[in-house]
Parts: sequence; C-alpha cells; structure tokens
Amino acid sequence: MPVGVALPVTNEEGFFEIRLESIGGLGANVAGKILAEAGVLYSGLNGSNFASYGSEKKGTPVKSFVRFAAPEKEIRNATPVERPHVLGIFHEALVLSDKSVLSGLYSHSVVVINSRKDPETMREMLGIKVRRLGTVPALDIATETGSRTNMAMLGAITKACEFLSPEGVVEAIRDALGTRYPQMLQGNLEAFWRGYHGVKWHEVTVSEGEAEQPYVRPQPLFGYETATLGGTLVRPGTTWNKDMSASRQGQLPEFLRDKCIDCAQCDLVCPDYCFVWEMGQDKKGRPAMVLKGIDYQYCKGCLKCVEACPVDALVAIPEADGWAPEHRVQQRFSIIATVG
Ligand code: SF4
Ligand code: SF4
Repeated sequence: MPVGVALPVTNEEGFFEIRLESIGGLGANVAGKILAEAGVLYSGLNGSNFASYGSEKKGTPVKSFVRFAAPEKEIRNATPVERPHVLGIFHEALVLSDKSVLSGLYSHSVVVINSRKDPETMREMLGIKVRRLGTVPALDIATETGSRTNMAMLGAITKACEFLSPEGVVEAIRDALGTRYPQMLQGNLEAFWRGYHGVKWHEVTVSEGEAEQPYVRPQPLFGYETATLGGTLVRPGTTWNKDMSASRQGQLPEFLRDKCIDCAQCDLVCPDYCFVWEMGQDKKGRPAMVLKGIDYQYCKGCLKCVEACPVDALVAIPEADGWAPEHRVQQRFSIIATVG
C-alpha cells in the first residue's frame, strides 16, 4: 500500500471532494469508481464513491461523487457533494441549459468540461470565476479511439487532481476493464492519455470567496407534496420537449431515402420513436406509409436502426458540432404540421 499523498486542500471536514455531472450513457459512474479506486489503491488515500441517478435510461441526469481523505481519517459521510473542489461536466449541453450544475463552487475549484470550445470562450459563456477552467474534446477523442467519453474526461480530471498519480489511474482502469473487456483496454488507455495531455486550461487570479457559487439543490417538478392524485399526468405531451441528443457518443444515423424500401425494420428497433412517417404511395402507386426521416431531437445514437436496415438505407456518420444535420428542423416542422 503506498504512503498517502498530501491533499492540496480540504473542506472543514477534512475531505477533498469531486462531483461529476453527466448524462446516463456517458460513463460518469464508472469514471467516479475508477477515480476513487486509484486514490485508495495507488495513492494511499481513504476514498469513497457513489452516484445518484433517476431512471437508468440513457439520457437522464447522473451525478457521481468522489470523496478523498488522508489515510488516518475515516470517511463516514455519504451525502452528495455540494461543494466540489473539482467539478467534471461530461456534456456541455448540461451546463449551457442548466447553470445549477455549477452550483457550490469555491473560488479555488477546478472545473473540467467536455467541449470543443477553448476554455476562455467557455468561461465567458458561463460567466464563472473559478481559478482554473479546462476544456477537453472528450467526445471526439472517444470516437477516434473507439472508447467512451468517460475515459478522456477521466484523463482531464486526473490532470486537475494533481495529487493523483496518472499511472495509478491507469492501473485502476486496467483493474476495471482488463479482465472484463480486454479488447477495449488499449483504446480506453489511449483516450485517457489524450484527455490527460490534451485538456486546455484557462487560469485567472480569484481571491478567496470572491466568486463562490451557492449550492442549489435541484428540485423536482413534482414531489410528494405537489404530485397529482394517483400520480396522474394531467399535462399532455410531456415528452415533446425531451432532448436525447446529449446521449449520443459521436455518431448518428443518416437516412438515405433513395435506398429505403419502407420496411419499418428501423422503427421496430428504435427505442425512442425517432422515425417520422407520412402517408404516400408504394412503388405500385397504392396508398402506403412512407418513411420521411429521423427526428434527431429524440435520437440517442444507439445505431440499432443501422444494424436493422436490410438495404443500407441507414448509415452511421460522425456527428457535426453540437447538433445534427439541418433536416432535423424540417422534421420538426413536418411533425407540427401533422399534429396541428
Ligand atoms: S440511432 Fe437509430 S435506433 Fe437509435 S435512437 Fe437514433 S434513430 Fe433510434
Ligand atoms: S429499415 Fe431501412 S429500408 Fe426499412 S424503413 Fe428503415 S430505413 Fe427504410
């Protein structure tokens, strides 16, 4: 067992705390586990990790927490991390749509965001004043190395936790993946090192307490005091505004109308009803439903439809920056026209 390394800063309870804000499917839970194991097994610290999430469906918010302490100090606290020394944000859509993921920061906190934007631009967009803000294009790295967003983020977060040995984190990755998924190990390690060396930092001088962010506990829309009788949904169309695009891992299906034979195999396997149909004609001129395309707002990039299509009318393509191709908008208009 290694001698415990010194923690650079702790809170009043003696803990160094990390919060990972993510979306189901990006691997923040695994990243938190690996980080905690690396601290305990390879840096001699005491550590704990736990996560909170709602339904386990891809695309829902996930938080993973890591707490470190000196080896002589026990950790008997399993409450969510409200004031993180390091905050990792696994998808920039999270922070751009909901600033509460940034709550609880100290002035000396370090924030790492999965984004192609440079950290200076990101800092301006967010208007936060933490000491160090880093960005890393974790999704691009994941796509290029055949790994997941979490490994590049793990690399960048390890860099932010200067007391952790990166070699120790690599050993923890080997422990976690080497036996169960040996074929994925090399790509994951490459992604880790690319995240570690590739994170870009923007640092400013912030005096202690100058820009601290109060912690805001996210409140559910309906709780036990406000839920309708029997849990009835009284508002129709509650899934209309759901946006699953943040779940994608760098690829999405492209629809090639010329090849499509309207067999609907894609629609049968799609978990999120992304396929948009309209009344038209089959090849013999008879009335039939014709596939118009994909509504990318609901597509989480699982690519099951690509596998299912018998005539290669769906192909996997890399996702463009931020949003899917422009015909998504056309699809939305199409749906509105159909419904309205
Ligand atoms: S990749 Fe295909 S099957 Fe998966 S959610 Fe998107 S449209 Fe549906
Ligand atoms: S599975 Fe392929 S051919 Fe069949 S409807 Fe879907 S896109 Fe068209």
